[in-house]
Amino acid sequence: MEYRHLGRTGIRVSELSLGSWVTFHTQADVKAAVEIMAAAYDSGVNFFDNAEAYANGRSEEVMGAALKELKWRRGSYLVSTKIYWGLHEGVNEKNTLNRKRLIEGINGSLERLQLDYVDLLFCHRPDKTTPIEETVWAMHNIIEWGKAMYWGTSEWSAAEIVEAIAVAERHHLHKPVMEQPVYNLLRRHRFSGEYVRFYKEYGYGSTTWSPLASGILSGKYLKGIPQGSRASLEGFEWVKENATDTSTLSKVQALDSLARELGCSLSQLSLAWCLKNPFVSTVITGASRVEQVHENMKAGEVAPKLTPEILERIDKILGIKPEEDDD
Ligand code: NDP
Repeated sequence: MEYRHLGRTGIRVSELSLGSWVTFHTQADVKAAVEIMAAAYDSGVNFFDNAEAYANGRSEEVMGAALKELKWRRGSYLVSTKIYWGLHEGVNEKNTLNRKRLIEGINGSLERLQLDYVDLLFCHRPDKTTPIEETVWAMHNIIEWGKAMYWGTSEWSAAEIVEAIAVAERHHLHKPVMEQPVYNLLRRHRFSGEYVRFYKEYGYGSTTWSPLASGILSGKYLKGIPQGSRASLEGFEWVKENATDTSTLSKVQALDSLARELGCSLSQLSLAWCLKNPFVSTVITGASRVEQVHENMKAGEVAPKLTPEILERIDKILGIKPEEDDD
């Protein structure tokens, strides 16, 4: 496992990490979570991603219980959570980054995770109604109180992040230092387009999500919807829709053939492709089973096989023209 600096911070994250969205609580109980996390940790993963909204707080509870059982040295791993959607319907309790919500949010997350602090704390989405200054101050305070080590953004526009950094600099507050954007072979344009200039200039870190497009880029949906897979779950009809889209499937089929030619699985090729981007600090993987972790954690060995010629072939399969990416 390689470790990369999280942007210009002093902290280093394993280039492949593990998140708990959809899986923990819904597909994996505490026992399964212990096995999945242990397999990742044993492969060198040092970063575990979560959010208060995942399974309405229960994903944090499962991870907290798993960490308690695993008894790892606290210094040996990083945990994150994210706040925005909230757990309740109250007017000040959902879809907001107001000061009250952020502070109540972190307190709730720490309780569910059974931790004294999280390492990374994200604003899960931008809030168009709360002044950015209020959010920056609250995140600064949370760090000053020792409840989080670093804070960042998820799916904020480059302009919003630049504004948050400017507010922090104006008042000498802790700045946001990392973003959590979607990035995979099928959804790449924001990260390799809009964000590029910003990442170069500000040295922002990134913890990228859904590297397999919810499993579609593993090739598992080429022959239908396997029972128990994400596309078969209630509430994930949109995954099913994407997983059965014929144009997507024909691209996935061609990528699968290329992976075979390279002697790896399509999941490994898809993850390795994300790793090739130097602006990626860590690729957050997801796994509902231990075997998936074992397979996915070998992606680092596949990355050197993705030569410029292979990357060009991938772009051709996806119908991407060279000028469409800035980097
Ligand atoms: P992926 O796109 O990699 O999808 C993971 C899912 O794909 C697994 O749960 C599993 O689903 C399937 N899968 C994984 N590996 C394999 C394999 N080798 N073979 C076959 N199937 C496989 O990642 P996620 O969408 O789960 O996102 C990763 C993490 O990113 C999340 O856990 C979360 O921490 C973060 N995230 C952040 C977001 C944000 O807004 N900030 C949004 C979304 C995610 P199954 O077995 O059920 O089919």
